[in-house]
Amino acid sequence: MSSLKLKGVRKAFGTLEVIKGVDLDINAREFVVFVGPSGCGKSTLLRMIAGLESITSGDIEIGGKRVNDADPSKRGIAMVFQSYALYPHMTVRDNMGFALRFAGKPKDEIARQVGEAARILELEPLLDRLPRELSGGQRQRVAIGRAIVRHPEVFLFDEPLSNLDAELRVHMRIELARLHRELKTTMIYVTHDQVEAMTLADKIVVLRGGEVAQVGSPLQLYDDPDNHFVAGFIGSPR
Ligand code: ADP
Ligand code: MG
Repeated sequence: MSSLKLKGVRKAFGTLEVIKGVDLDINAREFVVFVGPSGCGKSTLLRMIAGLESITSGDIEIGGKRVNDADPSKRGIAMVFQSYALYPHMTVRDNMGFALRFAGKPKDEIARQVGEAARILELEPLLDRLPRELSGGQRQRVAIGRAIVRHPEVFLFDEPLSNLDAELRVHMRIELARLHRELKTTMIYVTHDQVEAMTLADKIVVLRGGEVAQVGSPLQLYDDPDNHFVAGFIGSPR
């Protein structure tokens, strides 16, 4: 399972600088949560780590290897988005196996991987259903299943629960914690939900205007925020 390092990472869209020099050390198997207001660059940062967006300058290392120009499929990363974008005409089984079929894996191996992911996510009874026959929470689990079958070293989640209602979010939060314990992978999770951040994170990265405002454990940030911005975001009384 991979560690991750960002060194002076910058991103500009034309003349608009949206990531302004981010340094980060993420340990293997850590659950790291990025929080910060809308537009502060959380998604852009994830997309650069995934290789879906080029970096303007700086370095990204995954498992000690510089991946600045590496193809997204060669980074050992899988990303789960807020909109689950399942293929509507494919069953849960085929949705989950799609990336593996695309990669030309043998049928029995695909069946094994999909079966394992379905077990972990408690999707076994739903494998032959179509996405429209699933609830929102079930669809999001399928989207996570599509990531799991690829056995990534690092999972990236971009506000995966924000389309779900409050009750389901609580349930999925518990499932994600269990998933992290079971898979023992590195996870980077973007949210603007303080409760999610405080309960899931080993380490929280507070972002503000394309820069890191503070990094620490939930308790550190709560007890000792560097400034009012962090305090306000973490919900501590200062
Ligand atoms: P967040 O996920 O924290 O809400 P984003 O990473 O989506 O923030 O966006 C950060 C900033 O970068 C915003 O000002 C956004 O408008 C801008 N931005 C994101 N993608 C693009 C793009 N492809 N072209 C131009 N500006 C972009
Ligand atoms: Mg975003």
